[in-house]
Amino acid sequence: PSLRPEMRYRPDLEKFTFQMLQMYQSLIPPEEEERKRRQFLSHLDQLVAREWPGARLFLFGSCANAFGVCNSDIDVCLSINDDQLSKADLVLKMAAILRSDNMQNVQALTHARVPIVKFTESTTGISCDICVNNMLAVVNSKLLHDYSQIDVRLRQLAFLVKHWAKRRQVNETYRGTLSSYAYVLMCIHFLQQRKPAILPCLQDMRPTYRVTVGNIECAYYDQIETLQSFGANNKETLGELLTSFFEYWAFRHDYTRAVISVRTGGYLSKDEKEWTRRIGNERHLICIEDPLEVAHDLGRVVDRHSIRVLRDEFHRAAKILRHDLNPCTTLFEPF
Ligand code: ATP
Ligand code: MG
Repeated sequence: PSLRPEMRYRPDLEKFTFQMLQMYQSLIPPEEEERKRRQFLSHLDQLVAREWPGARLFLFGSCANAFGVCNSDIDVCLSINDDQLSKADLVLKMAAILRSDNMQNVQALTHARVPIVKFTESTTGISCDICVNNMLAVVNSKLLHDYSQIDVRLRQLAFLVKHWAKRRQVNETYRGTLSSYAYVLMCIHFLQQRKPAILPCLQDMRPTYRVTVGNIECAYYDQIETLQSFGANNKETLGELLTSFFEYWAFRHDYTRAVISVRTGGYLSKDEKEWTRRIGNERHLICIEDPLEVAHDLGRVVDRHSIRVLRDEFHRAAKILRHDLNPCTTLFEPF
């Protein structure tokens, strides 16, 4: 078979892929966890309905987007029409409700960019974040979920990349590295770029799903059943894809000029996005366009120090995948 250049170093590719698939399997949450989570949510639903009959709870983040590994926390959005109370007030009120229901470690973070209440349920140990009227996150979770249903290699690749990022401590936005959401977008973009492509660009197809959130129009093709064989002409295995992913971010990405864009299925330039200058704390040292909030660069949290950390980690991973005799262990070694 004709191997891509970066694969010539790895004679044991098949074995490596097998090991990566096993690791992926071990990261999938067991059915039991799913069951506990449903129980927990129906309890929350009741609490909220008692206080606000017109309100609704929506799941988002890793337990709604198919990219959740075992023991992820639960992200919930409270959707409510209330002209009297601000988001911060609603968060405070939610915190009071949760405390009176005996939830543990209830913290209302009212000054965060997105105000949330964080807490833990004592019996199950489930941790949960609730935000208010953040429907874009619900819609972007559906977009990610829809992509995950097209080709299983996306979910496999993203689980391993997220696992790597957590182990290497480069999944910490408060320290200037990237969110899980950003890593999943990097994986989607990467699979859109393979030749032949493994994923299509859903926002570039005839829309079958439309919703307006605030002033943002979200429209894309969501009849995923019709796309089941989209990536079938590409035979790359998980081992090859993981290797090429790190090769790309270590050696091929144009950090000076390029913006990756899942929305267009390709690249944009920093010039056309006007992401060439530092404004305030936003430096655009690695540019990942949000597929819905297109003015939003998910790399904006990255600063001069953390870009070095990130790029060093991409190099380390790429080098291990080229030369290491036991990459499965070394790649995921805790930092
Ligand atoms: P984890 O398994 O690490 O908890 P996660 O999928 O829940 O992963 P987070 O990065 O915690 O990912 O984000 C949760 C959700 O919040 C995302 O799925 C996305 O919908 C939304 N989100 C997070 N960061 C952003 C952002 N910068 N812009 C827009 N939406 C975001
Ligand atoms: Mg989460």
